[in-house]
Amino acid sequence: MLNPASSDPALHVLQTVFGYASFRGQQADIVNQVARGGDALVLMPTGGGKSLCYQIPALLRDGVGVVVSPLIALMQDQVDALAELGVRAAFLNSTQTFDEAMRTERAVRNGDLDLIYVAPERLMTPRCLDLLAASKIALFAIDEAHCVSQWGHDFRPEYIKLSVLHERFPEVPRIALTATADPQTRDEIVHRLQLDDALQFVSSFDRPNIRYQIVEKTNARKQVLDFIRDEHPGEAGVVYCLSRKKVEETADFLNQNGVEALAYHAGMELAVRSANQARFLREDGIVMVATIAFGMGIDKPDVRFVAHLDLPKSIEGYYQETGRAGRDGEPADAWMAYGLQDVVQQRRMIDESEADIQFKRLQTAKLDAMLGLCETLGCRRVRLLDYFGQPSDPCGNCDTCLNPPVSFDGTVPMQKLLSAIYRTEQRFGATHVIDVLRGVDSDKIKQWRHDGLSVFGIGADVGEAEWRAIIRQAIALGLISIDHDAYSALKLTELARPVLRGEQKVQLRHYQKPQKSRRQTGRS
Ligand code: ADP
Ligand code: ZN
Repeated sequence: MLNPASSDPALHVLQTVFGYASFRGQQADIVNQVARGGDALVLMPTGGGKSLCYQIPALLRDGVGVVVSPLIALMQDQVDALAELGVRAAFLNSTQTFDEAMRTERAVRNGDLDLIYVAPERLMTPRCLDLLAASKIALFAIDEAHCVSQWGHDFRPEYIKLSVLHERFPEVPRIALTATADPQTRDEIVHRLQLDDALQFVSSFDRPNIRYQIVEKTNARKQVLDFIRDEHPGEAGVVYCLSRKKVEETADFLNQNGVEALAYHAGMELAVRSANQARFLREDGIVMVATIAFGMGIDKPDVRFVAHLDLPKSIEGYYQETGRAGRDGEPADAWMAYGLQDVVQQRRMIDESEADIQFKRLQTAKLDAMLGLCETLGCRRVRLLDYFGQPSDPCGNCDTCLNPPVSFDGTVPMQKLLSAIYRTEQRFGATHVIDVLRGVDSDKIKQWRHDGLSVFGIGADVGEAEWRAIIRQAIALGLISIDHDAYSALKLTELARPVLRGEQKVQLRHYQKPQKSRRQTGRS
């Protein structure tokens, strides 16, 4: 029951304006900090309830709350939703006519608004800054604050200039919010936005109802079909693919096999894309096959699974995408199929990009962390949370906890692999190296006379899929690298030396034949 007579003004607004009974997590503390004029840095996972953290203080304080957001496409919806609650909100961005903008500016100046959403490039114009200087401002909320990070994938140059707000309006409290929480990004936000005195509110990033599962990729489409049929028949989910073409092919394949699927990617006509999104949100049990273009701002509580058919570029991306599952708190799955080809492909994309060397190094480090998550022998959740700077204990709700991978002393097979790469002069890709190891009699082997090498056939006792798994682990362990300037040739790194010399042992994860999961979806 709501208690309209609540004596706490923040709670009163929460109940009477927003219709919620109580604050969630750290919301109450955050609201109080900003309402009394202090600065705050809020790190909260997607769906955690960040909006109320600035909306309520804006209503409690005199003047208009200025919300800086790069998500122009969502502003209209946000303003409409607030209007329905009786909150006086508007936005200023490039989608408006001049007249509309004029009207909004007048409303700001007259003190007729509770909240104004502004795109950062608009806010930084002298015109807009002058408008704010002539108006009463309740607070600045800087949403998606990780956009200040030059190394993040959402970097927006205008965000760096937002430190001006502190200089021009030192008495106005600021609240920065983000769902990206790795320690470097956090430091960068504090530093660039001059939030040294802000109180930091770091929510737990754990999503205990999500079960993480990463399987060996054999035939991804077939595997995801089996996964949906076995574990989520008739339920809503998202299937992420890297390319637009694969999105369409996968959606067709699922539909042909009795799974109701829609496609979503940035190359589709806007009207079709929007219609598909609307159906996914409104109807039950639709599977959305999409590129990562799909998801920002999507709030559908009953998404029962998120599947990845391709390796995400970073743990941040993986976490954000999988975080769209199970927002209602009920059990949900984060499922991924991954193979050596994913690693080769992602590495190539980094190498072939136009970015400078420093940026490429950073992308490579992020990919390596993602790879480490895929190849870990330990709990996936521990690894994931550790990446965000949050220590935890094994969870009991991921594939490696439920079905601990068997590890073995893999020093000898690893030495065989490294020797084969070395003897073939570090000039060949995985397929050829495996052929050499397994003693395959191919044309290429004959052409290069590799059947005469001492390493030819020394790994015939190990299957091809297992060799691929060992190569992936060698990459994850940093023993070998892929050279895209030379046809994806495998190369030894410095770390390979002690292993080859027998000075260092290597623990490997046993290759497990992909098997159908026997889990029953006994949701209560
Ligand atoms: P975020 O911006 O962190 O992704 P939102 O602010 O969009 O999250 O909130 C996610 C959902 O949770 C919304 O539907 C919102 O209405 C709901 N919500 C937020 N706070 C509360 C609360 N205290 N009680 C109930 N629902 C809440
Ligand atoms: Zn676990």
